[in-house]
Amino acid sequence: MGFNMLLPILFILAGAAAAAYPDDLRADFELAEFSDVSTNLDDPMYRLTDAVQPRTVNVHMDVYLEEARLDGIVQFDVEVIQSDLTQIVLHQKVERIRTVSILDGSGRPVNLRFPGPYSTNDTFEILLINLADPIPAGIYSITISYAARIHVNQYDRGFYRGHYYLNGQKRYYATTQFQPYYARTAFPCFDEPQFKSTFVISITRDSSLQPSYSNMAIAETIETSPGRIRETFHPTPTVSVYLIAFTVSDFIATELTSKSTRPFQIVSRPGVADQHVYASEIGVEITNQLDDYFGIEYYGMGLGNPMKNDHLAIPDFPAGAMENWGMVNYREAYLLYDKAHTNLNNKIFIATIVAHELTHKWFGNLVTCFWWSNLWLNESFASFFEYFITHMADPTLELEDQFVVDHVHSALSWDSGAGATPMNWTGVVNNPSISSHFSTTSYAKGASVLRMMEHFLGARPFRQGLRYYLRENAYGLGTPEDMYRALRRAAYEDITFSRMFPNQDIGEILDSWVQNAGSPVVNVNVNMDTGVISLKQERFLISGATPAPQLWHIPISWTHQGELNFQSTRPSFILSTESATIQGTPGHNWVLLNIAQSGLYRVNYDDHNWEMLASYLRNPSTRTNIHKLNRAQIVNDVLFFIRADKISLERAFDVLSFLEHETDYYVWNAAISQLGWIRNRFEHIPEAHQEFTEYMLGLLDNVVDHLGYEERASDSTSTILNRMQIMNLACNLGHSGCISDSLSKWQQFRANQTNLVPVNARRYVYCVGLREGNAQDYQFLFQQYQTSENAADMVVILRALGCTRDTESLNHYLGQTLTNDRIRFHDRTNAFAYALQGNTENLPTVLQFLYNNFEKIREEHGGEARFLVNINNVAGYLTNYTHITEFQSWGYRHQAQLGSALSNVDSVVNTALNNLRWGNNVVPKVYGIIISDNNSAAAVTTPFAIIFVALATLLFR
Ligand SMILES: [Zn+2]
Repeated sequence: MGFNMLLPILFILAGAAAAAYPDDLRADFELAEFSDVSTNLDDPMYRLTDAVQPRTVNVHMDVYLEEARLDGIVQFDVEVIQSDLTQIVLHQKVERIRTVSILDGSGRPVNLRFPGPYSTNDTFEILLINLADPIPAGIYSITISYAARIHVNQYDRGFYRGHYYLNGQKRYYATTQFQPYYARTAFPCFDEPQFKSTFVISITRDSSLQPSYSNMAIAETIETSPGRIRETFHPTPTVSVYLIAFTVSDFIATELTSKSTRPFQIVSRPGVADQHVYASEIGVEITNQLDDYFGIEYYGMGLGNPMKNDHLAIPDFPAGAMENWGMVNYREAYLLYDKAHTNLNNKIFIATIVAHELTHKWFGNLVTCFWWSNLWLNESFASFFEYFITHMADPTLELEDQFVVDHVHSALSWDSGAGATPMNWTGVVNNPSISSHFSTTSYAKGASVLRMMEHFLGARPFRQGLRYYLRENAYGLGTPEDMYRALRRAAYEDITFSRMFPNQDIGEILDSWVQNAGSPVVNVNVNMDTGVISLKQERFLISGATPAPQLWHIPISWTHQGELNFQSTRPSFILSTESATIQGTPGHNWVLLNIAQSGLYRVNYDDHNWEMLASYLRNPSTRTNIHKLNRAQIVNDVLFFIRADKISLERAFDVLSFLEHETDYYVWNAAISQLGWIRNRFEHIPEAHQEFTEYMLGLLDNVVDHLGYEERASDSTSTILNRMQIMNLACNLGHSGCISDSLSKWQQFRANQTNLVPVNARRYVYCVGLREGNAQDYQFLFQQYQTSENAADMVVILRALGCTRDTESLNHYLGQTLTNDRIRFHDRTNAFAYALQGNTENLPTVLQFLYNNFEKIREEHGGEARFLVNINNVAGYLTNYTHITEFQSWGYRHQAQLGSALSNVDSVVNTALNNLRWGNNVVPKVYGIIISDNNSAAAVTTPFAIIFVALATLLFR
């Protein structure tokens, strides 16, 4: 899948971006989206045995969209491997099994037990077919007729129905989301990735609809009865059932290539076909690049049947996108591009998510992870190439560099939680654990580990290793050992690598990252007299707790002040023991490890080395000698070391002080959310909070001036992204220039709706317009929402609507998430968080709305899992003791209705209290540092005593 689905609890414990302040430019709400509320128990019966292997599966469905139901027949040609089998078990979670029959290889009926020819088990979601007598191994045909519901809530996944409006008329469509275990709700099947077979899908639908879509092109169309049409699709390649897909709709397609052997289509609801162009242009280019890179052509994967390459924009979609072979589904906002209304960030998102899904054709579809415990064998590669193959398709998007601040930093942040799980997680045994492994671990962390391996191995041997893996396992399953073997072979064949690292086993090195939970920090001590650099590795924990011993094989690249070599990211040393030394050059020079942050680890230095780095960075004439990605690394590491109490606050703020000269997108990106996290910790002490705001504004002045408020034709991608993040932050902090410029843009738009706000400025301009405005401003923007036809722009507007300060408007906004069906389920929960992000003073209103409406929210936001996300989102904003206790007592007053959600309430309260304590401990020290640092007249006006009195009052509670 294109997006992560994480356990919110873990998310909070990691303390990562739970309070995603102030920005989630790359839609990090997706990260907290998923929490399964259990369908299966932890039990070995959960897994099917491999006694029966499906070879060909024919599925026919008679679909009734209006009634949200289908009648189906599924016929399997299977190979029974085990002799004397008495029971055949497969998955099902359909409404009703009608009949089951089995024929042997010669077409003779196989007797089923009587009574009780079959039974179903709802706990394990299986169908048990009981044979009258043991059967020998061999070929059999199983036919099952059944009835199923088409789900009406996208979060039930499987085959579900959604809607859209065309000329004011409500239209239905239905599509699928089967990964990881929902195919069984549409038809009985062997619903695990290890069972791969050919599928022939056929669907009967109303003739008033457009032709249906599935993985393959339509092979045959017949009218089965007046008003009913059956379409039968070509057989798929050998594939796992989670990759099967179909759509019954009146959607329309735009074909972008005229070459019938390389068809490429964008499909959507009618009325938005003019938004198809960008995704198809970049999609065609990415397909070509992937063909070249892997040396296996996408259009040749059909085993003799023609492959198509359809990409569907789905109005209601529970994930971000899904890589079904030949029929990729996307949430509309992630596929449709409108130059006037889609900002650069969303445009990049379209390119990268298309690349992510296309990469899955090789990693996932052609070679599939053997079980969800090693989902990284699919998702890490998709997450890796979503950046690097898009970079090849369009280097101006700067995705090679963006990888570091997006994936590497989020992986390190996620891994800093004590609850982080390994890439190979043997705890994946049932539905909830499967879902929770669709996490940062399998996506961003896996991708970061791959990048580290690529820099270690070299680009060509790395590519060669992947080619071996794909060729050797095509149409089958992949295991970590298969991957290690392929990379070892490529490493062995590469002369440069063999010479540089004659005794290193790439498989063993990679395996240490696959098996270990968490990520390491390398602690560095430099003896400048002798040049000896001492290294010591340990797991990094945000709690600051002492970690249990763990060892990684860490590729170490490094440079020093006398050398300034930031070009070579090839490691010169592998740290495989807890500690080791390397011989550097004696001399009074700082040392810096992890060039361009090509490795997945943090680096903490001795105080003197930090001091030297700090002064080098503070000097405007030397700062940029250090690679921008290393400046980003330093800032991000230091902010996490502050949180974990692994650096003195004086030294930390000494290092961070160079930000006042810094103008680079990547460096600021690495700083913003963590600075925001610290600022939020001071919110219950208004004087300190104000001082910290002033401190941040002081850091921002220069970059705001540097960027200016107007976009220039010559601006690079990172300059535009930087303006988006910096102005958003500056306006949120109350930067007067940012606010007055935004207000002027807002007023021009208010005066004349043809004066569109520049698309990349909309998020903060709209927000300022509403924050500084009144109920009329809110209503004006709300009308824009009601008439917009671009899903990405609608999200921008929805987010800004949450910035209103007007209580009545805010209640209207929150109420809309329960009733307005233009706000899709997947946006409703986010809207709730936007209200908190938009203005922290909205908290009491949002909490009151939650207390009054929680049962309705649970229903209208898409179910229990979504409701839990709402609860969890509150954690980062509960910044004073009164709100925390009020929230807790609300939870306990409604224990019965909240059910298992009560444990989420507990986690939120614990997180909030820990945050409060952290703030209390740190405030006095930070306060002193930023005052002397700022040396600002305004700052000195608040005497320390006030802070201490405020603190004392809090601590006595
Ligand atoms: Zn994916």
